Amino acid sequence: MLQLYVPLNFLGVIYREIKQSLTDMDRLFRLLRENQEVADQPEAQPLSVSGGEITFANVTFAYEPNRPILRDVSFTVPTGTTTAVVGPSGAGKSTLARLLFRFYDVQQGQILIDGQDIRQVTQHSLRSAIGIVPQDTVLFNDDIGYNISYGKPGATEAEITAAAQAANIHPFIQSLPEGYRTQVGERGLKLSGGEKQRVAIARTLLKNPPILLFDEATSALDSHSEQAIQQELRRLAEQHTALVIAHRLSTIVHAEQILVMRDGQIVERGTHTHLLTKNGLYAQMWALQQQDEVVVPAVTQ
Ligand code: ADP
Ligand code: MG
Repeated sequence: MLQLYVPLNFLGVIYREIKQSLTDMDRLFRLLRENQEVADQPEAQPLSVSGGEITFANVTFAYEPNRPILRDVSFTVPTGTTTAVVGPSGAGKSTLARLLFRFYDVQQGQILIDGQDIRQVTQHSLRSAIGIVPQDTVLFNDDIGYNISYGKPGATEAEITAAAQAANIHPFIQSLPEGYRTQVGERGLKLSGGEKQRVAIARTLLKNPPILLFDEATSALDSHSEQAIQQELRRLAEQHTALVIAHRLSTIVHAEQILVMRDGQIVERGTHTHLLTKNGLYAQMWALQQQDEVVVPAVTQ
């Protein structure tokens, strides 16, 4: 509950949390416009997207002075392909996503989309071009139809249903007492992690942005839901330019390019097969996760 004596930096605190969680950012951004740390340049033009090719060129970034987080990071995600980012916790993976969405500006180097420096374009057009399936989807206190249509304000009922069908959540919604008009969120029906994630996928399908960003999108799910959702995410990614920050390596073996990050640098890159033959950090991480995947089903059954 918002109270009158809330300190003035309250919005600042929320804003930082949102930036961290990458959750439903564009809506909250509008609410918190005052608190933006980066601003449109006076001559900013709308981003003109052809295929959505993403380039990080010699990017160096620090949240705080004297503590560099990314050091000279360079890579390109060619149009229509998937690049996965893996690496230990704290390596700087989510920071890549935050910079692409321009929550912060880089200190050195450039981030380009279809050749345009993202600092030169309007933030609205940049964020409209990127669809995010976050780790933890926040639902608005409204009906489930609204929660899906939020991806495309003014969407028709037929479009909403089609998106829900493609995200495999339509049968579930139909089984609810009031169907698409069922209230969800904190004050309504609580959905499971998998159901919320499907709502996020439906939203993204409806928005149909050229660029997709998944940040450990299914790590909060049990492995059965994860497999089903991974298939949907993969189908979605196949038709887009996608940057996928992955927790479980088995979900990204098909990516055209895998970047392995450690301590803010890309230490290995290539396809799954190529990286295995290199016998480096990726091969080690893969071997470790293979062991886990043998153990997990035995425990959960
Ligand atoms: P990953 O996603 O690979 O686990 P992150 O990109 O989230 O890693 O974080 C990389 C590093 O940046 C970590 O050391 C983390 O503590 C630091 N960091 C992340 N967010 C902030 C922030 N808002 N302010 C200061 N340091 C941060
Ligand atoms: Mg992260």
